[in-house]
Amino acid sequence: MEKKTNFLENIIKDDLKTKKYEKIVTRFPPEPNGFPHIGHAKSICLNFGLAKEFNGLCNLRMDDTNPTTEETKYVKALEDAVKWLGFEYDGEIRYTSDYFPELYEYAIKLIKMGKAYVDSISEDEMSEFRGTVTSAGKRSKFAERTIEENLDLFERMKNGEFENGAHVLRAKIDMSSPNMQLRDPLLYRIRHASHFRTGDKWCIYPMYDFAHPLSDYLEGVTHSICTLEFENNRDIYNWLLDTLGLSPRPYQYEFARLNMNYTMMSKRKLIELVKSGVVSGWDDPRMPTIAGYKRKGYTKEAIVNFCEQIGVAKANSTVDVSQLEFCIRDDLNTKAPRVMCVLEPLKVVIENYEGSEELEADYFPPDVGKSGSRKLTFSKEIYIQKDDFNENPPKGYYRLTPTQSVRLKHGYIISFKEAIKDSAGNITEIRAIYHPNSKSGNDTSGIKVKSAIQWVSAKTAKKVEVRLYDRLFLSDSPKSMDDLNPNSLIVVKNALIEPAVVTEKISQRFQFERLGYFYADPVDYSDEHPVFNKIVGLKDSWTKIEELKQEKKVKKEHTQGEVKPLSKEEEKRFSRYTNELNLNSEIANTLARDETLSNFFEKALLELNSPSNLANIITSQVAKELKSYDVDELKFTPVQISSLVKMLDDELISSKIAKDVFEIMAQTGDEPEKIVKEKGLIQISDVNVIMPIIDEVFAKNSENLEKYKAGNTNLFGFFVGAVLKATGGKANPKVVNELVKKKLD
Ligand code: ATP
Ligand code: MG
Repeated sequence: MEKKTNFLENIIKDDLKTKKYEKIVTRFPPEPNGFPHIGHAKSICLNFGLAKEFNGLCNLRMDDTNPTTEETKYVKALEDAVKWLGFEYDGEIRYTSDYFPELYEYAIKLIKMGKAYVDSISEDEMSEFRGTVTSAGKRSKFAERTIEENLDLFERMKNGEFENGAHVLRAKIDMSSPNMQLRDPLLYRIRHASHFRTGDKWCIYPMYDFAHPLSDYLEGVTHSICTLEFENNRDIYNWLLDTLGLSPRPYQYEFARLNMNYTMMSKRKLIELVKSGVVSGWDDPRMPTIAGYKRKGYTKEAIVNFCEQIGVAKANSTVDVSQLEFCIRDDLNTKAPRVMCVLEPLKVVIENYEGSEELEADYFPPDVGKSGSRKLTFSKEIYIQKDDFNENPPKGYYRLTPTQSVRLKHGYIISFKEAIKDSAGNITEIRAIYHPNSKSGNDTSGIKVKSAIQWVSAKTAKKVEVRLYDRLFLSDSPKSMDDLNPNSLIVVKNALIEPAVVTEKISQRFQFERLGYFYADPVDYSDEHPVFNKIVGLKDSWTKIEELKQEKKVKKEHTQGEVKPLSKEEEKRFSRYTNELNLNSEIANTLARDETLSNFFEKALLELNSPSNLANIITSQVAKELKSYDVDELKFTPVQISSLVKMLDDELISSKIAKDVFEIMAQTGDEPEKIVKEKGLIQISDVNVIMPIIDEVFAKNSENLEKYKAGNTNLFGFFVGAVLKATGGKANPKVVNELVKKKLD
């Protein structure tokens, strides 16, 4: 889909077309008085993004004109944020303080033109003389000072002869202007304070309205983009550059700042949170700072994508924080391997099992289209999540109960035998039996289950600390510390995780099945003491709570929590899907509960007997389409879906390509065979084609090859991934896997 251009892009296009500028220059001009937040990310993406889009440049400039609040550590944080988000600034970091000498000269020029004067009235008088929106202001008597007098006083201000506040330099514009900003604005004030870069060299400091336009000009900036609060300052911006006759000159444009619910977004307020110790620092994962998001495990891709999604507008509005969370999930869905972690372990002893075995478990579900797997050890003692067993289950509870069996994800179905309790009546252990012929992927047991739960082996599980982060504020427009969420951080010290996560480290971000996305904490994580931060939950639980509150219909949840029981008709379908067609219970559940989807599936099944692959694509891709369209509005038919799945079954295409083909089919209604042919999407399984690509990848990564040979076998996945990437995802993963293995051996 073509991206809609925003008003700034239109202005720039015009300016380049009319040759107003040869090349555009933008800038991101933060004050280094705190860590940048998500609002700054929007400004960064906008300024650097425009420069990139139009082959221009973008400067990073510290607007450091206030010596009492600014520090080097904030400069570093700003630099880190820009770089982490993937942008490059032109040249070195620039500082307004570097221009203090030039700015001083411009002030003198204004005085000499009779356009600026030293005022010496008190602050109270000054605000009284300013007038109001409805009445004109009055000029101070000092405005009559001669040029010589002004020059002399200004120089002595600079030389440190006066106390703070004794005098100021003001522009002589118009005390009765309807724009209050133009009523002789301040240009310089006296501040006896050490500046973090210029030390005690200066004791007069320029005001924003004076320093900003001139700094823009000095840097050759063309488009000076700021937020709407500065709309009224634009007149000063123009007055200054035009009065001084500076050309070619920059112009100021304003856009709406980002406001987000449940989020405080001002450095001034955020610094209070840091200073009061409510959070652990600027990079606390609950902070809306870029450093906080980074530490929490958000990806830069997700943040940049969010900033693009929310767009640039000229009217203020508030964005829902769940939109940011959506972008994170969307990004991690295809990146984060699925693994199993148990937060509150409950021991389960499988009475009829002896010895142990290794179960092969894929890291990604089929619809993600990524390969890779690990082995899970299954033996007599395992741990499950405490709340995945319930002795007195409420209606619609789908997990283990005294009468309801459950599947261990990637493993067997187990059934309850006995609950062992301590003297207080708390369950300390469950005794269960497993069903040998119920192994996942090869289940002939005919036992009906309604969900699959995560588990870890008692023998091999590793202890980890898990930090569960939630929103910092309960109020959707937080004003003060009273609005803090007391449960914004819950630390689980003794969670248990499958060993591959901490030994193989194939990723820093994982999806812990049924719990959410998690990130190895970059600060506190060590091999002895692994720590994971919760990045985001799997579903938007907050919106759901809100919806519940409004008594809206709650979306059905399939594998977790309390849900509506199946009707008789749905029961029947569910039973057919799990027993006859061997579908996994999650997918069976989705199909059973949705009549339209179920009918669609049955029709496709008549054409092609491939229940599992058909159900996969129908419950994901087709279901997504049906959220926006009625079934008779769809451009494709069940027959076309079966043709698509047939190609998948025949390994002519990979599941990733199947997804792409589906997207096209959903838009055009074209036959999948035709799409595949025309776009050249046929999966490559030919050894003669793949082998040279493998050779090339090996040659390019000789260092990793050495590491592999030296024993780092974890790199196997890296090579497979690199080869798949080199073929644009067109190679048959199975064949690549085999060939890479062969070649490495
Ligand atoms: P804060 O009030 O949080 O300190 P600020 O506007 O004073 O923010 P600056 O460091 O002066 O912060 O801002 C640097 C740039 O970032 C400016 O161009 C400003 O317009 C932009 N910016 C700041 N906050 C937002 C926001 N919420 N949305 C979009 N841009 C923002
Ligand atoms: Mg500010």
